Amino acid sequence: MYDVAIIGAGPAGSSAAIFTAKAGKKTLVIDSDKSITKRAWIENHFGVMEITGPELVEIGKKQAQKFGAELVEGTATNIAKIDNGFRIETEEKSYEAKHVILATGLLTDLAEKIGLHTKPGVEPRIKTIIDVSADGKTNIDGIWAAGTVAGVSVHTIITAGDGAKVAINVISELNGERYVDHDVLKS
Ligand SMILES: Cc1cc2nc3c(=O)[nH]c(=O)nc-3n(C[C@H](O)[C@H](O)[C@H](O)COP(=O)(O)OP(=O)(O)OC[C@H]3O[C@@H](n4cnc5c(N)ncnc54)[C@H](O)[C@@H]3O)c2cc1C
Repeated sequence: MYDVAIIGAGPAGSSAAIFTAKAGKKTLVIDSDKSITKRAWIENHFGVMEITGPELVEIGKKQAQKFGAELVEGTATNIAKIDNGFRIETEEKSYEAKHVILATGLLTDLAEKIGLHTKPGVEPRIKTIIDVSADGKTNIDGIWAAGTVAGVSVHTIITAGDGAKVAINVISELNGERYVDHDVLKS
């Protein structure tokens, strides 16, 4: 049983996985390699002078794996409620997790299939988004959403930030107190 399963390894999903794995949470990331970020040339991501979208996505995956996140290449086809969590199905295999974060970018087919409330997008060229509360919760307790699919502005610094925000809320819920992840520069 994973603590957190994250669907999508774009900026939102991988950023969430960096935080949950670094917090010692057993983290699974399932990704179908259809990130829109792979078409981007990025010069407006704070702290990074310039970078290609594919590089940013690859670095994000490596950072999450550095802290122990398990990355599975595949498509999550269904999510079903089980006793103390959820069963996530892919074409090859199914997994179990206490919490699930959907970070599926433009794709809302899985969300609609499992009964998550969706609504029209507000950002340019975004058709449908998942209806989430300010902390990233959906209408199904234990399923969260982050990034483009959760309706935030479609920019890497914002989608990555939203992934981190939702991850910290999931970690805090698992820990029963607010979580902070600060490393200190050694003098
Ligand atoms: C041409 C272009 C140029 C851009 N230029 C910039 C720029 O200069 N600066 C900037 O800040 N932003 C730019 N962006 C926007 C940036 O790419 C997005 O803002 C953003 O980062 C999207 O992140 P995300 O994680 O929400 O979605 P994505 O990066 O799309 O990631 C979603 C991931 O979820 C996976 N997925 C979906 N459904 C499933 C499923 N059922 N099972 C498994 N995996 C699934 C997909 O395969 C994908 O890898 C650009 C976008 C485009 C298209």
